[in-house]
Amino acid sequence: MRRGRFAPTPSGDMHLGNAKIALLSWLQMRAAGGVFVLRIEDIDIQRARPEITERIIEDLRWLGLDWDEGPGEGGRFGPYWQSRRLAYYEEALARLEAAGGLYPCYCSRAELLAVAGAPHGLSSEGAPYPGTCRGLSPEERRERAARKTPSLRFALAEGEPVHFDDGIAGPIAFPPGSGGDFVVRRADGLFSYQLAVTVDDALMDITDVLRGGDLLDSTPRQLALYAALGYTPPAFAHAPLLLGEDGRRLAKRHGDLGIAGLRAAGAAPEAVIGWLAHISGLTDRFEPLAAKDLISTFSLDKVSKEPYVLDEASLRRLIR
Ligand code: GLU
Repeated sequence: MRRGRFAPTPSGDMHLGNAKIALLSWLQMRAAGGVFVLRIEDIDIQRARPEITERIIEDLRWLGLDWDEGPGEGGRFGPYWQSRRLAYYEEALARLEAAGGLYPCYCSRAELLAVAGAPHGLSSEGAPYPGTCRGLSPEERRERAARKTPSLRFALAEGEPVHFDDGIAGPIAFPPGSGGDFVVRRADGLFSYQLAVTVDDALMDITDVLRGGDLLDSTPRQLALYAALGYTPPAFAHAPLLLGEDGRRLAKRHGDLGIAGLRAAGAAPEAVIGWLAHISGLTDRFEPLAAKDLISTFSLDKVSKEPYVLDEASLRRLIR
């Protein structure tokens, strides 16, 4: 049975870009007769806000995107909130540690920023870590540990480049060690996105990850974790982002493009879905549609590989 998921981080309201990903991942599972999971990625509880989770849930329902497992539905792979899954991350971390795959990193934020100008960073995570703390002797570690609580980094194997076939972006290759050794637990004890998302997708038996193109370069890191933890990785598909008129990815600064805002302004869900389907390459022209009307003709091959720059005119068409 195929299993897909939508995994929003409730740090900000859902915007059209998130809705596009929700729609595509929902369609992928509905067209395959699979199971669609909603998982709330609220591990960073300082940023995650419960009222935003509620609004995301309302937005998804309003858009006609339902889920089989997750908040309100339950399911045997729960809990479906990352903040309630810490024991699973702890267990995975202990396994990585026992296998000798981790090392403590004492670098300060300032030291890390000093390498920020270096090329070939993974765009979602900044400059590659130069490996400063990887080769410390036990004595050097003891000495640094007296002054600073370390983060824990996953030591990437040198050697092979990482290849995978992306369901939308096509064949992808990353050079060996891309992005450098990455943090799996921060100095303040928080588990990293890379660790949490890998453990969750693996333990929830997710077979298909469809998400935003900004996470494409997280995939080699997650593949490394799948291998180290002995899990089978899912198939990945990364959909191009929606960009604002300024050419930058949609974010809070493009505030009026929130789904809740469009809803309040009187947009019909069919207009939003029809427009998202059109700009994603699923339909030849814009027409209002219910999400379920798109299931029978959905195919990942149709999804456009180009980022879409959103203009005010098309937005006005939505809320007319
Ligand atoms: N929680 C992430 C986000 O909202 C998505 C993670 C993923 O799909 O892997 O951007």
